[in-house]
Amino acid sequence: MAEVVLTMDRTLASNYRGGMFMGFSACVPKGIIPDWLYFSVFCPSVEYDEETGEVKEAPLGIRRIEAQLRREGYDVAVVHPDAVHKAIDEDTIAVGVSEIDPQGMGPATTTFTSFSGKPAYMKVCFEDLMERIRELKDRYGFGVFMGGPGAWQVAETFPRFGVDFLIMGEGEYVVGEVVRRIEEGDRGLEIVRGKPVAAEDIPTIVNPTTNGIVEVARGCGRGCKFCSPDMRELRSFPLSKILEDVDVNVRGGHEEILLHAEDVLRYKADGWRPNVEAVLELFSAVMNRPGVKRVSVSHVALSTVCQFDERLGEISEVAGVGELVPWMGAQVGVETGSPRLMAEHMPGKVAPYKVEEWPDVVEQAFGIMNDHGWVPCGTLILGLPGETEDDVMMTVELLDRLRDYKSFIVPLFFVPIGESRLSDHDFFTPEKLTEVHWEVILKCVDHDLKWLPELYEEYARANGHGPLVKLTIRALTWYGRRKIFKSALKWCPEKELVEAVLG
Ligand code: SF4
Repeated sequence: MAEVVLTMDRTLASNYRGGMFMGFSACVPKGIIPDWLYFSVFCPSVEYDEETGEVKEAPLGIRRIEAQLRREGYDVAVVHPDAVHKAIDEDTIAVGVSEIDPQGMGPATTTFTSFSGKPAYMKVCFEDLMERIRELKDRYGFGVFMGGPGAWQVAETFPRFGVDFLIMGEGEYVVGEVVRRIEEGDRGLEIVRGKPVAAEDIPTIVNPTTNGIVEVARGCGRGCKFCSPDMRELRSFPLSKILEDVDVNVRGGHEEILLHAEDVLRYKADGWRPNVEAVLELFSAVMNRPGVKRVSVSHVALSTVCQFDERLGEISEVAGVGELVPWMGAQVGVETGSPRLMAEHMPGKVAPYKVEEWPDVVEQAFGIMNDHGWVPCGTLILGLPGETEDDVMMTVELLDRLRDYKSFIVPLFFVPIGESRLSDHDFFTPEKLTEVHWEVILKCVDHDLKWLPELYEEYARANGHGPLVKLTIRALTWYGRRKIFKSALKWCPEKELVEAVLG
């Protein structure tokens, strides 16, 4: 048995059928659809070894910790949450759990669960996992550490879940020391602060990641007040290191590589100036790697898209957009249509443009992306501290301008992320919704229902969904449309608005 066992809750042990849009279903509240349907259609399990419990693919963060601990001489296994009992015995020194949203407090989950009053799957699955780990801990006496982007959510409650050490921030420099302390019998009940890791110190993964995700840069540097402090410094990885991670994923069976950074187009950027040649070299090198058939990206920033302008087409050409893939999806932060709020909370997101240009930057970037076969999946934030009705009206106006661009737009409630500069503000909740907020939500629903069928058809074709999955999703879309309309009539006090926007 391995000395260190790493695992995650069941919602993270899925590749969501290989797509970014399906990933949002991780935030669905439990009880909206039957569990069997949720776990078979939306959140199917990754493959794992029935005997050892080891998973075939795992989230990138866990793979980095696995690589770091191996580098420090530990025998490590990354196991499926349903099979932790198969990997743990009296030889186990420590169990590590990595979580993104363990209490369902992230922006998407908070928004989706706050209307239904039902708990998020992530929270239910996390608590179930920790209960089982606690029973094993009582029997074998190992120590437990936890980390990941959602660690802040249990900063005050982690001992309740049987966690001895909570790692906040990047874990590579500190996780080995935590395991050594556990080995020596220390059960700290302590929060350990990670430090930004230099690109050259980040270990190459040793096993495949979920959906072949490969990190190309870490951090951001745009400095939005609501964002995690871990994003402060942008560090682009050397191409050779990226290609090593690509090779590990190819050997693990991935033909598509998902390039990940907070803004992939700022790879090796010089300040605010993107390095188009370096990004092109990155895409070409990955596409030309033996075994790679497709490449996709996780996030880009709209201001960088505007800086790329027509040259985004060169990336599309290298990536075979329109030939190998129907379109290139990318998550983008729209956040608000109000330049005043941009100036107040996130001026860096607009740079190098002026904050008053933000609505134009957003529309122009959506246009550039569509022109070159990209589909933005944008997020909005409702209830930012200091938001006024005029600010929200500007978001309504921006949504009208975006209606004809093929895209997906998700409104999210403001969440005071732990350790961010807005962490002492309150969560935005449904009771605080005004008529104009409702207009934003309903317009987003209308926008997404307009584009969803076309996007899904193309997406299903590209991801080889079988007829049963397609039929189920189509039926759910039809059912969802009716259900959303009825729910909006129930929840929204402005019935006429619902009829006008969705009727
Ligand atoms: S641009 Fe995104 S990642 Fe960067 S600081 Fe702002 S919210 Fe965070």
